[in-house]
Amino acid sequence: MNQRLFAVIGHPIGHTMSPFIHSRLFELSGMPAEYRVYDIAESELVRKMPELKALNGFNITIPHKQSIIPFLDRTDKKAARFGSVNTVHSDGGVHVGYTTDPDGFLMALKSRNVSLKGRTLISGSGGAARVMAFEAAEAGGSVTLAVRPHGMPKAEKLVQDIRCHIGNADIRTVLLDEISGSFDLLANATPVGMYPNTEASPVNNSVLKNCAAVFDAVYNPDETLLLRKARENGAQTIGGMDMLVWQAVKAHEIWDSAIYDPADIKQLSRDSVEEMNKIFGSKA
Ligand code: NAP
Repeated sequence: MNQRLFAVIGHPIGHTMSPFIHSRLFELSGMPAEYRVYDIAESELVRKMPELKALNGFNITIPHKQSIIPFLDRTDKKAARFGSVNTVHSDGGVHVGYTTDPDGFLMALKSRNVSLKGRTLISGSGGAARVMAFEAAEAGGSVTLAVRPHGMPKAEKLVQDIRCHIGNADIRTVLLDEISGSFDLLANATPVGMYPNTEASPVNNSVLKNCAAVFDAVYNPDETLLLRKARENGAQTIGGMDMLVWQAVKAHEIWDSAIYDPADIKQLSRDSVEEMNKIFGSKA
């Protein structure tokens, strides 16, 4: 049998965790494949498409998540909803685009028994916040989007989009420095706290003290200042690496109908943190 070939495309794509995570997932599923990294600039995507379409499947990261869509035969419902594709499956020559972000987010929470049915506070209103807010509203939870003043029009537009899809959505906006009340979950969907600006937090400790669980989409460092403070307050904490790994798991479900033991995925998340720390030289 010919070696199956998969890849991740993006630009720049120097320190991607994808080969580490996907190679382990191919090993665990017993469905061997080679996984490569293709650094493709925006202007090169058209020229590279025949090569990409010859692969068994590929992942897509910045800046191609939207621009890949016109080259595909179709997208699934969530990829269409979010206008974003991070996984392509070549199914007998038919190229289908998916976004695995929603499943990654849901599984990161579910695997730690954290529910989206309660009061969820989301910081940010970009791509990750859109996924989190749709999923929380769809779960029937109460959703509050917290943003900076200049981000308010974009946040209000997201609220309208969600209300269009989910008629009874319980969702509102607030300024980051006017948050009040208590929350079952705070989900950070901003890059605040990400390496190398690790001494920053999207919300202050008075907000954090009223959050029972905290998820941070940022995965480098694995424990952000936000998560450290939340842990010190006694809150349950979930790091962004869990979401990154569960997103990849979903890609293998799509490509190979692979099924994994949650204990193996938990271990992969821990190993991925260790690998990331080696790459960035922060803790290893
Ligand atoms: P994005 O579309 O660029 O959105 C970023 C959001 O953060 C915007 O709402 C932006 O607000 C806000 N923001 C940026 N700087 C801020 C600051 N200093 N204070 C307050 N708000 C600020 O980015 P994204 O794709 O949603 O990604 C957000 C983060 O999630 C990134 O760190 C990304 O790496 C991470 N992420 C992780 C995973 C995972 O699997 N773990 C998946 C997706 C994303 P304005 O509109 O006001 O600029």
